Amino acid sequence: MTSIVVLGSTNMDLVTYVPRAPALGETVTGRSFRTVPGGKGANQAVAAARAGAEVAMIGAVGADDFGARLRATLEHCAVDTDLLRTAEGASGTAHIVVDDEGGNAIVVVPGANGTVTSLSHGDEALIGTADALLLQLELPLSVVVEGAATARRLGVRTVLTPAPAQPLPPELLAAIDLLVPNEHEAAALTGLTDPREAALALLRDVPEVVVTLGAAGSLYAARGADPVLVPAPRVRAVDTTGAGDTFVGALAVALGEGRPAPEALAWAQAAAALSVRREGASTSMPYRVEIEAAFH
Ligand code: ATP
Repeated sequence: MTSIVVLGSTNMDLVTYVPRAPALGETVTGRSFRTVPGGKGANQAVAAARAGAEVAMIGAVGADDFGARLRATLEHCAVDTDLLRTAEGASGTAHIVVDDEGGNAIVVVPGANGTVTSLSHGDEALIGTADALLLQLELPLSVVVEGAATARRLGVRTVLTPAPAQPLPPELLAAIDLLVPNEHEAAALTGLTDPREAALALLRDVPEVVVTLGAAGSLYAARGADPVLVPAPRVRAVDTTGAGDTFVGALAVALGEGRPAPEALAWAQAAAALSVRREGASTSMPYRVEIEAAFH
């Protein structure tokens, strides 16, 4: 079984549906409200576990009701939470307002995620047992850099989702094996709007790049070869939230099982396509049997 460690965020998404978003100082009556366990780290952990890997999560939840629910959700999905800390204070939250046109405004409060500033000896030992370490940018940058450098030293594959988009320090890029931006992040990182050109530019810093292109699929680029476009399955999209995290979690599993890169991308896209056909983020992520059935 592929073994994956995620060093990343847990957030409770607080989603309010409104006819239109309020202006500053204004009150509007919303249509409905729901809480959804999320955070890019937790979402990737759930995606990888459902895709068939043994997964452990390093990060922090708060000492509040949301924290208990975030931890329980991960455990329910068979993610090992032994090294998921419980920090004093509030869990990370994302306050999301969605209007009738599907537009949204989001405030993210890192909460407990912001307390994860360095790794323990236990964290390092756990990373050393993994086939891959999955990283995103919703924890303090210092611990993301430390995690990547630790994995690199221990010979563990590092996969970075550079979201939310921000400049990446050279010491982080130097420890990344596979960078997986979406097309907007790829453009933000390089200043190049053509995904192919952006991927080639990113190859100066990392050996392998996958740029995700939404319904168009994804582009695989490695040094010394022409980039390959792998088209996505055509499906009726209901909710694309979490498609990127589903893709990364499944991709890490497929690569860990030794599938060649283009086949691993196609397998991950089968998983992501299943997730966009259903509502929700982690709740819409497919199980391995579903991915296998869709892939064949
Ligand atoms: P999100 O932020 O919504 O989680 P993202 O912006 O990180 O997603 P995308 O490039 O939109 O990432 O999507 C990731 C992958 O999900 C794509 O490469 C593709 O395989 C799949 N996907 C996304 N949207 C669709 C769609 N409409 N139809 C089929 N597959 C899709």
